[in-house]
Amino acid sequence: MQSATLHPALASLQSFSEPPPAGKPNILGTPLAELRTFVEKHGLPGFRAQQIFHGVFRHRHKSFADITNLSKEFREILEQTFDITRPRVDQIEKSSDGTRKYRFLTIDNLAFEAVFIPEVAKGRKTSTLCVSSQTGCAVGCKFCFTAAIKRNRNLAASEIIGQVLAVAEDIGHKEPDAKFTNIVFMGMGEPLLNYEHVVRSVRVLLDEEGMDFSARRITISTSGIVPRIYDLGRDVPVQLAISLNATTDEVRDIIMPINKKWPIHELIQSMRDYPLQNRRRITVEYVLLQGINDSLDDAQRLIHLLEDIPVKINILPLNPHDKTSYLPPSAETTDQFQAELRRHGYHTMVRRTRGDEISAACGQLGETALQNTTML
Ligand code: SAH
Ligand code: SF4
Repeated sequence: MQSATLHPALASLQSFSEPPPAGKPNILGTPLAELRTFVEKHGLPGFRAQQIFHGVFRHRHKSFADITNLSKEFREILEQTFDITRPRVDQIEKSSDGTRKYRFLTIDNLAFEAVFIPEVAKGRKTSTLCVSSQTGCAVGCKFCFTAAIKRNRNLAASEIIGQVLAVAEDIGHKEPDAKFTNIVFMGMGEPLLNYEHVVRSVRVLLDEEGMDFSARRITISTSGIVPRIYDLGRDVPVQLAISLNATTDEVRDIIMPINKKWPIHELIQSMRDYPLQNRRRITVEYVLLQGINDSLDDAQRLIHLLEDIPVKINILPLNPHDKTSYLPPSAETTDQFQAELRRHGYHTMVRRTRGDEISAACGQLGETALQNTTML
């Protein structure tokens, strides 16, 4: 799925290591179209692929032997061809606000995290699952905890889907009706630098024969890998979130070094060009750093930059941690910043810190990964 028009600057960033060869492809990361090709190669009708998909993603079987509507011989072929293992859940931490943080270990013993965030909005139970796409992040934003983790690799599509299945199972055990309504790629890593696996995982999530999520409920958040934003719009037009975080190149170059490759005007243009279905909006994330990007001038520049783009703005007061020298803004500055955006008609919300006591808030992911693995 590599794009024919791959930007040369992506080459250096994509030196990030790939998932370890597992020997066999994992069925959890295999879209239905590929399964169809596989079953047809074995002289079987296409609907067998659907039966496999139902077995794995609807009935959530953990072994091919359990998909009993397939012949024993075919189950054996599946066993020989595909892996079906999920990443291991190593630890679950619960916060008093209901947030749950899951730590997973890959087969090569790297830690990554997912966070389940329950919410009640307008009397309805909604909830969000925040998934990781890499085990660290090479983008190196100066305010982000994940950037401090040195032992990185891309997660395989199966490791991304594995997070969704494991959390669904854990939550479902407690409250059988509980379902997360939204999946956001806002955990550890830069999803658009792991493009191939992220898109595969999205295809699996969207498939109505399997997990059946709607594209409106899946959000990919990026620091601004511009050529990949265009690819995403063509391949799987899910919801897009852009971590803008500054209004001048001077500041953004410092806090998000990726800006030197794709400066603000290119990023804004990619937002203008992103295909949006009816009434959808792009989410703009803006981390407020005291004295750096939190002035009223910044708010006004932001308004100007986003003019005519359908957006909603998430203001994120910095979650402080010991790997950043920046400080969070005062509550008053945050309020004034938001009020200025609102005055100009922007939909904004200040993202409340959730699960702070377990370091499950944005930009704090990776803390337990860092503490508890010795091979960093
Ligand atoms: N790499 C992607 C997605 C993961 S980061 C991206 O950058 O968009 C998810 C969000 O957390 C981003 O909007 C990022 O700006 C924000 N974030 C990172 N560190 C943070 C911190 N310490 N406090 C608050 N938000 C933070
Ligand atoms: Fe990576 Fe996103 Fe953190 Fe930047 S904010 S270092 S892109 S995870």
